[in-house]
Amino acid sequence: MRKTTATLLPLVFAAAFLAGCVKDGVLPRRSFERFTQTRDMMGTFVTITAWAPSAGKAEEALEAAFDRIAQLEQMMSSYRADSEVAQVNAGACERPVEVSPEMMDVLDLALQYGRLSGGAFDITMAPLWKLWKSAERSGIEPDETAVRSVLPSVGYQNIKLDRRNRTVRFLKPSMEIDLGGIAKGFAVDRALEELRRHGVSAALVEAGGDIATMGTPPGAGGWSVGVRDPADQARLREVLQFTTAAVCTSGDYERYVEIGGKRFSHIIDPRTGMPVEDMSSVSVIAPDAATADALATTCSVLGPVAGLNLAARMANVEVMYIVAADGDAPVVIKSLGFEDYAKN
Ligand code: ADP
Ligand code: MG
Repeated sequence: MRKTTATLLPLVFAAAFLAGCVKDGVLPRRSFERFTQTRDMMGTFVTITAWAPSAGKAEEALEAAFDRIAQLEQMMSSYRADSEVAQVNAGACERPVEVSPEMMDVLDLALQYGRLSGGAFDITMAPLWKLWKSAERSGIEPDETAVRSVLPSVGYQNIKLDRRNRTVRFLKPSMEIDLGGIAKGFAVDRALEELRRHGVSAALVEAGGDIATMGTPPGAGGWSVGVRDPADQARLREVLQFTTAAVCTSGDYERYVEIGGKRFSHIIDPRTGMPVEDMSSVSVIAPDAATADALATTCSVLGPVAGLNLAARMANVEVMYIVAADGDAPVVIKSLGFEDYAKN
């Protein structure tokens, strides 16, 4: 299902407006202009905004950044039969499959988050998602026995990475990976890197609500990012301000399976095999988007108590839960430092 509205909304217009009030000691506005472009990629919309000295430079940088995302989509997509992920899934149960260096990097990261979260984040949850997807088609909710029968093929510990030979091997039968919980964040980070390589020093990249920023728009205090109210998408819940950092949101209401009129989240607790119950939204601020993306998914699984605990153990990570309450105003729970990013 395509995601049309993002929970996080980059307020680049606000940032551009602020750029009108240039203060001493910052780049003169006239020498830099704001360029922005949106493309349909990674099953969502990707928007890149960059400040560059000329249209030519901006175009070159944006093109390179979009190319990079396209390349990563080809690598990580679960929907493309010829993606690298599909190749790994097709072969790694039988033999070690050779992968690209970048695939090795993202797998390595994903396994780190698996360990860090005690298995709440687990890219091997794919067979569970398949079970819930097929239940949607049949209209019958899987019973405990059906869920339990899939669990032996779930477990990030059973992915064996061989860094020297650059191979991936699955140690249990019927294993499959799905990078949906980290792919957008990873791609957004790499796109920023590409912009930086092309001489851009202030940019914001957004993929379906997952955002990474670099530098500061001329004349502004940072990049403004609005967090929408999940209960009322037209309303902004918070406006945050960043320089170089990332913010990603999980638990959107547009991706789910519907079985017998009941909605189930696309985020699965790999420990139980069950979709996450309460449909709250979780926004995570972190130094980079791969971290923010993986942790947002993780925190959706863990719930507020364990999620806030995990964030507290990590440097420069903040988390906000917006918990929907039937009929009442949603309950907002934030980590202590989240407020520091609020735009005054
Ligand atoms: P969104 O894609 O809406 O931004 P997320 O970043 O939370 O939301 O990613 C959800 C996706 O992550 C799912 O569609 C699935 O591909 C994958 N996923 C679901 N549950 C888990 C989990 N427990 N650990 C890792 N990945 C997961
Ligand atoms: Mg995620």
